[in-house]
Amino acid sequence: MRSVLITNAKYVVTSNSTNEILENATLFVRDGVISEINPKSAPEGVEVFDASGHLIMPGLINSHTHLAMSLLRGWAEGVDLQGFLERVWAAEGAIMDPETCALGTELAAGEALLGGTTTALDMYFHPTATHRAAVQVGLRHIAGPIFLDFEGIDGLKWPDRIALAKNWPASAAEIGGPHIPLYFMPHSTYTDSPEHLAEVAELGKEMGARVHLHVSETLMENDDVRTRFGKTPAEVLRDTKILDLPTVYGHGVHLSDSDIEISLAKSASVAHCPGSNLKLNSGVADITKYKAAGLKVGLGTDGCSSSNDLDMWAVIRLAAHLVSLNHGAKAVDVASIIRSATIESAEALGLGDRVGSVEVGKEADLIAVDLSALHLMPIHDVMALLVYAVGRSDVSDVWVAGDRVVRNRVLTHVDTLSLSTRVAERVKALDSLK
Ligand SMILES: [Zn+2]
Repeated sequence: MRSVLITNAKYVVTSNSTNEILENATLFVRDGVISEINPKSAPEGVEVFDASGHLIMPGLINSHTHLAMSLLRGWAEGVDLQGFLERVWAAEGAIMDPETCALGTELAAGEALLGGTTTALDMYFHPTATHRAAVQVGLRHIAGPIFLDFEGIDGLKWPDRIALAKNWPASAAEIGGPHIPLYFMPHSTYTDSPEHLAEVAELGKEMGARVHLHVSETLMENDDVRTRFGKTPAEVLRDTKILDLPTVYGHGVHLSDSDIEISLAKSASVAHCPGSNLKLNSGVADITKYKAAGLKVGLGTDGCSSSNDLDMWAVIRLAAHLVSLNHGAKAVDVASIIRSATIESAEALGLGDRVGSVEVGKEADLIAVDLSALHLMPIHDVMALLVYAVGRSDVSDVWVAGDRVVRNRVLTHVDTLSLSTRVAERVKALDSLK
């Protein structure tokens, strides 16, 4: 079932250690794992995907998002982060029960897969409900318990959050789906006290968890945290021992040189979200500087209420354009941007040994890019094509751990007509808040 022979790929972008691009290549996926590249003899009895006219590459990895917020697409426009949060929190309070979170995640997981994203690091309430929904659609969905000082829309108090975290590995195992690392997700240093962060760090250490949270998204956040604690967010994370666990910073727009050093010493990584940062006027993360220092940089969309969609190709393109704006066109390394969307993200998330590249022994999280569109002709530079010309509509087929979750631009595990009807029905509840 999860075996496929992908034949005659015009190109295979591997994201391996030498960024190899293979031409006219064949891949054999056996039981969800890439078992051979250009096998000498064709295995019998497996499904064949004729990839002539296609480019095969690792699935894209969205390293910071809030999937269920797809239901709030276009809900908070023309506002900065503060105005955004006020408007969004009102809507979340009105509709985001577990069932609705699951519905929003189902919608988002479908959108993500159709656009070539195979993994998402997803911070949102009711992770059991969202995880079940995303796994059913076929996404490699990294959810985890959320930690906040105050009662969130999930109505949980601090001890409930700790209890949920202790049970999370069992809940995730019961749901099944592709392998994911264990993550704890305190929202940020401005919503979680140092005492609470220290408690999360201690529990995380006991349970072998990794951490994902928002860090230095805006200058206002940095000012606020400095006023309250006399430290930068990264310093708070170091001192509470959060950074003793592998940590992925959502955004990381405003990291000082000293923050970069702290983060490097502790192996923290940055999930760069240029679309959301530009839209909310949060600033621009200097990923050229971060990468030169040795920080791993993944790419992310953020939630649909601030980025409006989950288009990783748009994020890839924006990331490249912003490097050019800040450092000049010569500084743009398109291969490095593609690595950020694939293997570097995988490494940042703790999945580097499983996905993110096309190599024997890796799980088959693969996408096929149909090269037949006029906007993809001619091909002088494959990496530049991926960064500046390919879009979501060019993704024809998607596999997650060998499961063909998108077949010829159609989701295989979801009835999209029923999904769109259910979404339209549910968001009617927001009418009174407009
Ligand atoms: Zn976020």
